[in-house]
Amino acid sequence: MIRFNDILEKVNPYLTSEDIAEVTKAYAYSAKVHAGQKRHSGEPYLTHPMEVTSILADIKLDKESIITGLLHDTIEDTLTSKEDITNIFGEEVCSLVDGVTKISKLKISSTFEKQAEDFRKLILATGKDIRVILVKLADRLHNIRTISYLPEERRKIFAKETVDLYAPLADRLGIYWIRTELEDRCFQVLKPNEYDEISKMFNSKKDEWEKYSFEIKNLLEAQLDKFNLESKVNTRFKNFYSIYRKMIKKNLDPDKVFDIKAFRIISKDIASCYAALGAVHSTWKPIPGRFKDYVALPKSNGYQSLHTTVIGPFGDKVEVQIRTEDMHEIAEYGVAAHWKYKIDSDERKKLIDLPESIKNIFETQTLSDPREFIDAIKDELITDFVYVFTPTGELKELPIDSSVIDFAYAIHTDLGNKCSGARVNGSIVPFSYKLKSGDAIEIITNKDREPSKDWLKYVVSSKAKSKIRNSIKNLSSKDSEKIGKEILGKKLANYGLNIDDPSTLEKLKNFSSENNFKNIESLFINYSLSKVNIVQILSYFNLGVKTKLEVKQKNYLNPNNAITVGGSSNIMVRMANCCGPIYGDEITGFITLGRGISIHRISCKQLLEVDSNRLVEALWDEKSNIKSSTSLRLYCNDKTGILSEVSNLLAQNESNIIKINAKKISSSKSSIYLEILVKNANHLKDIIKGLDSIPDVYSVERLLAPNSEFNLSQKNSRI
Ligand code: MN
Repeated sequence: MIRFNDILEKVNPYLTSEDIAEVTKAYAYSAKVHAGQKRHSGEPYLTHPMEVTSILADIKLDKESIITGLLHDTIEDTLTSKEDITNIFGEEVCSLVDGVTKISKLKISSTFEKQAEDFRKLILATGKDIRVILVKLADRLHNIRTISYLPEERRKIFAKETVDLYAPLADRLGIYWIRTELEDRCFQVLKPNEYDEISKMFNSKKDEWEKYSFEIKNLLEAQLDKFNLESKVNTRFKNFYSIYRKMIKKNLDPDKVFDIKAFRIISKDIASCYAALGAVHSTWKPIPGRFKDYVALPKSNGYQSLHTTVIGPFGDKVEVQIRTEDMHEIAEYGVAAHWKYKIDSDERKKLIDLPESIKNIFETQTLSDPREFIDAIKDELITDFVYVFTPTGELKELPIDSSVIDFAYAIHTDLGNKCSGARVNGSIVPFSYKLKSGDAIEIITNKDREPSKDWLKYVVSSKAKSKIRNSIKNLSSKDSEKIGKEILGKKLANYGLNIDDPSTLEKLKNFSSENNFKNIESLFINYSLSKVNIVQILSYFNLGVKTKLEVKQKNYLNPNNAITVGGSSNIMVRMANCCGPIYGDEITGFITLGRGISIHRISCKQLLEVDSNRLVEALWDEKSNIKSSTSLRLYCNDKTGILSEVSNLLAQNESNIIKINAKKISSSKSSIYLEILVKNANHLKDIIKGLDSIPDVYSVERLLAPNSEFNLSQKNSRI
């Protein structure tokens, strides 16, 4: 069990004796108020804050953070009040403990809307002080290390929350070792079979791999010596979770992933990094397109390194990373790396501040629509970036798939608002052009230009989105009327109607008066503000939105008897293919252009990319007893009889098979594709559980179901 002395030994080298006296006081206080409390493991509760503090001491955080580590659970779990902490340890410590407490109280939920709110509260709770996040990460790390003591039913939820929220946060802050440890431990809880398989593979290959890497290491060192480059060569192991991700993403067998060897060269300065790269490339052939220079263009979390992949001496792929000692520290410790050095109070202020990328989330915090907000979070937290240049040669980092409009807004709001076009590397490009790293961009402005709703189609950065939305909202009523008429006109044109036709205008006028709008102008204004449901208008015109009577009913697959849209049960819908909702899933309707309303699962990734104005509420009728079809993919050992085991299980569960397809993916593995009929989401859950318990089946996933599952096959699935 950890002793207080272990902590003292760690902080001794970098804290003053006064600081240590205060830390000791905090320890005594924490011991007093937690006295008698026990953890799930049966150990005294105090071991937890001590372990957390020990992690913080490892990354050499300041006195206030160390004290916060010791006290972080006192407000939540003991009789201690905020006033007590302020009186004894001062306001700074109190606000840190308070921030950690607020985060702990957040209930991270699985539904889409709630999740957005949770992210927002989490960021707000930090009071923009990065130390709150660092203490919380240490807290979570220790809780995950001891997760086996949690009651079984809570383990998966806890691990899911960690992998969804805290691992990406650690990644964003560049704290590699915390991220990988959180990921691997959660992976073990969430996908125990896959974890075991990779772990077994790893152990069986270990000896061979060590022998091989010893040889490569010697060869590399000899080569670097020849060029007089003083460097260290390390072998590098990928964490299990990233192996798994690679396996799924590239559809590789685990063997293949293990075949990729990875080495790291630590050089003494930047010049020798490039020299070492030259040495490597002159020895082994580099694979084109695999070289990345994160030294000249660091990642947004501060990461720097040269990456290359070469064909090694035995004809296999060898990944090499080259960096300096300092860069290595940042790669491992991220934002926390800077704390290791003696710093003055000005620098300290800068360090405490949240990084720009996380602060950007604050700018969008007023967004009222949770979907917009979660969109913003995802933009800021988990995207990859492109690096482009301003006309003066300044480097800008933008989310991948950014357009010139994103770029304009990144420079200045006015530049964005007045953007009428752009030149990239000297040529005019359309707004739909996606920026590439290295592009030099020049924005063309027009003082009469105003942001248009259409721009939302092209932008990906949360800043651009919120600025465009704001500026649309700020338009005068005359302008809103014009825009409202224009966009409604465009929509109606899809259905062959001209909004300037007298008969169309007449009908819109009637619609206005029947729906309590003052006049048709007010209808346009409200339409531009997305306050009019397009479904209402389309059904008034008998367009696109078909009523049930007009459509021949299909039997079991027809969801129309079971869904109400925007309060009406008489609207024709179809199930979206991208996420295949079934009865019982949380759903929402999306108004397509000319193809009626499609029903998506609320967790569907597609929804993140669409205009949220076109979403309408959709609900299942609780009394319905329809069946829906859904698809599953199983990975299993290739064994005779496995198909009959699967179909027996489905029969037992009273589910009908529509389609079943098996495919060999390696000498011993198969994948099975299943399309089945189920009654509802719970029924499906039982079936998945049943399939999962067949010994030779090692994974079951519901297809076309992004986001809501621990589904790693999706792009950007880091959270
Ligand atoms: Mn805790």
